[in-house]
Amino acid sequence: MSIEDYQKAGKIAAEVRDDARKRYHVGEMLLSICERVENMIRERGAEPAFPCNVSLNEVAAHYTAEPNDQNVVKDNDVLKIDIGVHVNGHIADTAVTACYNPKYDSLVNATEFALQEAVKIVKADVNASDIGKIVENTAKKTNFKPIHNLSGHSLAQYTIHAGKSIPNIRTTRTFCFAPNQAYAIEPFFTTKDGSGIVYNGKMKSIYAIATRKITGDKNADALLDYLWNRFKTLPFALRWILQDYEEKESRMMLEFLMKKKLIHSYPILVEGSGKFVVQAEHTVIPTENGVIIVTR
Ligand code: MN
Ligand code: MN
Repeated sequence: MSIEDYQKAGKIAAEVRDDARKRYHVGEMLLSICERVENMIRERGAEPAFPCNVSLNEVAAHYTAEPNDQNVVKDNDVLKIDIGVHVNGHIADTAVTACYNPKYDSLVNATEFALQEAVKIVKADVNASDIGKIVENTAKKTNFKPIHNLSGHSLAQYTIHAGKSIPNIRTTRTFCFAPNQAYAIEPFFTTKDGSGIVYNGKMKSIYAIATRKITGDKNADALLDYLWNRFKTLPFALRWILQDYEEKESRMMLEFLMKKKLIHSYPILVEGSGKFVVQAEHTVIPTENGVIIVTR
């Protein structure tokens, strides 16, 4: 693993996130937000680690713009912008919530505070359950609810979810942070009347290769090779391949490859009671004495 590549990815991710944080998005198309974020990453000499997520209101995560997406950010919307940058597969994962409904300002602040407090205690050998404790306690103190079934995660080269989960609620003791290993910490909060659980929605607009295998279908095999060469095991959006493939044809082939379990999708995640969800996220690397906040 290359700390240097993580730092490069992290610096770019932080710049792009902070640009998104200060922009006024009301009236802008989700598609244009995604494209700007992804282009800013490329202009800075890195690649998006996954399609920019622009999840609105009760959608907690995993929404990215479709090829001809007409959705526009409206007054009173709460928009999670989740950004991934990679340099040689070293991924920086960070998110910010843009809030255009003052009713939810305190919810956004509480989540940001929970992230700050959580990141402070990260260090090699600290138990990840301590993060869950801090996040849940912060939610309780501020009268909100953490999303129970969304968590942070370890990161590995070309792998967003590398096997370890960092809880956002109190749990029994789990793994300890390893030094020089990257982790994403990402509290999600909803309001007190929310269920605190997300479920898979019907829509899916993000995909990734699950396994590489020959199907015998010439076109599908060619697409799988193409996807492997461009994205390896990282997530991608349909709109990312339309310079080389026709939309209708690629949709059909993706469905075929999903049936064969060679591609998997990330359905959108929706709050169980339809309440608004907010998110904050940093990528960190624990050290023997403290922590490197890669996306500070
Ligand atoms: Mn993220
Ligand atoms: Mn993440």
